[in-house]
Amino acid sequence: MKAKQTFVWPEGQQCAVSLTYDDALPVHHELVAPLLTVKKLTATFNISAHSGFTENTGAWKHVASLGHELGNHTLFHPCRREPGKRKGGWIPHYDLCDYSAQRWIDEMRVANCLLNQIDGQSERTFGNTCCQTTIGRGHHEKDLSELIDRMFVAGRGPLNEEIVRPASLSYPALGHFNGDRKAAVELQQEIERAVDMNGWIVFMFHGVGEGTHKGFIDADEHAKLIDYLEANSDRIWTASMVNVARHLKRSGYGAAPNMTDADDA
Ligand SMILES: [Zn+2]
Repeated sequence: MKAKQTFVWPEGQQCAVSLTYDDALPVHHELVAPLLTVKKLTATFNISAHSGFTENTGAWKHVASLGHELGNHTLFHPCRREPGKRKGGWIPHYDLCDYSAQRWIDEMRVANCLLNQIDGQSERTFGNTCCQTTIGRGHHEKDLSELIDRMFVAGRGPLNEEIVRPASLSYPALGHFNGDRKAAVELQQEIERAVDMNGWIVFMFHGVGEGTHKGFIDADEHAKLIDYLEANSDRIWTASMVNVARHLKRSGYGAAPNMTDADDA
């Protein structure tokens, strides 16, 4: 385990920040990606193929050309539909409770292939749907970490509002923070905690501005956050999840890079 004092982010920064934007919303390619690019920051846009993607692949190709990551957010956005628990996914006939490992792998493989046709990349991260981390039900409920590890450089895990510690991270189950409905000052406080820990903080956002999604951050608050990240880029490294994960793996933290697809599944 490396001591905190010896850990160095790429240009001597004190922490890493990954902004992840889910669900292939128009505001992402119309406003967010260009804004980040002007500020010399990169992010991860988690693409679900069933909405907002197939209608406008040219826009997403442009987002990728700006250096942003297109993350895999499944093809059909399946979520768990369980009585008495958090409201399930958007589409009733795609229920993660019904998914076997092979079905999950098949869907992610096709989603990866689709994204590869857009961005040419063979490595990417996984952004879990509804922040859920398991498939199957009852005695057959299975944690996704092993499958994510086979197919992706890294993936979001539980929405636990925990900063990722490079010395003890789990690449397929990265803890993350919700960014929707937060003020810039609150997000900055969370990032400063990551600075203190020399850690990696991952945020999940949906819409930016009212009317862009039922979960969203106010557009002005988002702009303040981006200004803060730009102004503090000498000590805060803002980068896509895939780039931060690659950097950590190259630096010897955790498992070796998983370069293969799930051909052995
Ligand atoms: Zn989603």
